Formats: sequence, C-alpha cells, structure tokens
Amino acid sequence: MTALIGHQAILRDLRALAAGADPPHAILFAGPEGTGRGLLALEYAKLLNCERAAPTAGASLFGDALPPADPASLPCNACRPCRQIDEGAHPDVITVSPGEALCRPRPGETSHDRHPNSRDIRICQVRGIIDLVSRYPFEARTRMVILDPAERLGRDAAHTILKTLEEPPGHTTFALISAAPEAMLETIISRCRRIDVHTVARAEIEAGLRERGVAPDLAAEAAAASRGRPGRALAFAREPDLMATRHRLLARCETIAIATAGDRIKYAGELGERWQRDRGSVLNELDVWESFWEARLRAAAGVRGEGPAATVARMDVLGATAALRAVQRARDDLQAQVMTRAAIELMLLSFPRRTLRGPVQEDTAAHA
Ligand SMILES: [Zn+2]
Ligand SMILES: [Zn+2]
Repeated sequence: MTALIGHQAILRDLRALAAGADPPHAILFAGPEGTGRGLLALEYAKLLNCERAAPTAGASLFGDALPPADPASLPCNACRPCRQIDEGAHPDVITVSPGEALCRPRPGETSHDRHPNSRDIRICQVRGIIDLVSRYPFEARTRMVILDPAERLGRDAAHTILKTLEEPPGHTTFALISAAPEAMLETIISRCRRIDVHTVARAEIEAGLRERGVAPDLAAEAAAASRGRPGRALAFAREPDLMATRHRLLARCETIAIATAGDRIKYAGELGERWQRDRGSVLNELDVWESFWEARLRAAAGVRGEGPAATVARMDVLGATAALRAVQRARDDLQAQVMTRAAIELMLLSFPRRTLRGPVQEDTAAHA
C-alpha cells in the first residue's frame, strides 16, 4: 500500500495525463505541506514507469510478458519500478532541495564554498540538473526530477532553469512542489501544469490510518490533530510524542493569549530566531495557533441568545476570526520570506487579549 491517503480525483487526473498522447513535462503540485504533494509526484513517476502500463518494457527485462493492466488499477505498486519508487530507491527519481544535491560549480570556478545548509535551491544545483537531464536515465522510461520546495529556487536559478522546464528531453519530467506558489516567478508557473492539492477530509484520513494498521483511538486523535494533512496524521500516529508536544504547545498558546504585549514580543523574538534554523517547527507552531483560535471560534459561535455572555461571545468571534486571518498572513509572509521577525510580531499583536475562562478542548469531531 502506498503512503498516499486521499486525493483519488487527482490520481485519476494523473492517470489520464500519463496515458495521454502528450504528458506534461512539468507539473506544479501546489498546496500546504503534509497534504501529499510529494507523494502525488511519486504516483505520477510510477504511472510513467510502471511495467504494467507498458507490458512490453517489463517483458524485455524479465522475459515474462505481463497481460495489459486495467488503466484504473495503475500504478500497480508491485512491479520493480513501482516498488523502487515507493522505497525511495529509484536511481532516476531525484529530489532537489536547498542543500548540495547535484551541486555543480561553474567550469573553471576555482573555489566553490560548500552549502549543505543553504536556504535556496542554487544556480549550481540547476547547472547539475541541466547536466543530468541532458543524459539518458539509468533505467527509467521517464526520469522524474522533483524540486521541493520550488519557491526556494533563487532568482538566477529560476531564470536558468526556464528553458529546461519548457522543453526538457522526452525522457525527463519535472515535479515542482510548493506551499507558496505566489512566491514563484510567473514564468516558471506558466510552464507547468498546475495541480492544487487541498487538505483531506478528517474521516478519510482516519480511515486511511486504520487501513494502515493504526489503532482506532490513535487514528481518530491523529486525524483530528492533523487538520486535513495526511502526512502529519501519519507522523502523529507513528510518533505519539509529537501529539504530546502538540498538547503542550496548545497549553502554551493559552498562556501567550493572556500575556502582555511585552511577553508576546519576547515570544515573537524566540520564533523569529528559531525560524532561521528550524522552519518546520515554526510552521508547526502556527498550525497549533490556528487550531487554538479555531477552537475558540467554535466555542464562541456556539453561544446563543442575549446578555453579557452572548456579548462576550460575539467579541470572541470577531477576535478569533481576526486572529485566524493574522496566522494565515504570517504564514504567507514567512513562506515568501518577507520580514520574518516583523511578520511574527504583527501576528502576535493582532491576537485579541483574552481573559482566561478555562481551556477549550480540541473538538476531535470538528475538522471534517
Ligand atoms: Zn508498476
Ligand atoms: Zn554549489
């Protein structure tokens, strides 16, 4: 069973594209982290390389011709290329992220500093990509080069890769993964077939976890906490410690929500500093904030009638709505690399000051 949970409609589209006369040579999978964008790129790589999709190719290798498969059952997930891709072991499925993958200094360049922790996909890596795609794949019918996250292509790197994206050799397909396509060059986006990857319904995630052997209670809890992101749900299910961390962070939100502006700014400084070395943990914390304000919003929206309690509840609805917008804006700004520290401060100062009325429990049935 592949790791992909949900997205059956996208998978159907990918099947049709892969089987079509002119499969796209660059696809942009746009959507939030943890939704399954990378796994969808791998599904497409499998569709392009599955032996059951082109039985003669498999037969030539092993001499045992396979009957043609029902297209709706592809990829088969059982043939050698499918298994290699699922295991992350296919030599022609290559992921390029900020770092040193495929780094190739300019010819004649005498010193090229190492950059294992760089924040961008650099032009030297693009040089490596261009060199790679000029050669035949080792064994794939179609090589797959995955750029993740694609909005981290530096400006020069992006310009340099344009032509290759537009007309890669027939044996190479690109998958660009991005949570912030608005931070990408329009010229890059226009060369890609865009597929928007949305969050997945809670019930579907829960069912997917149970199918993968996760105990029912844990599946329900992990699915609820994942807020529509199967990748995160799987991580929660595999590492219950992450759930404990999440509970701890939610309790901390409670404290920050009633803290003074000074304390909030101090916390903003902490997040801004951490962003430099651990973006994932800060984005995760923004998620927890979103859950926190969503829970507030649901609690306040449930108060009916007139009187002081209803008045307070109406204020809470407005406050929580503004807070949710502030979280979204901060996430956009961070992903577009806009004034990190200021973006976080602005978010925290946009949060309403709450009076403490006891913690709101996360409603495990609400995110559907
Ligand atoms: Zn296969
Ligand atoms: Zn380099």
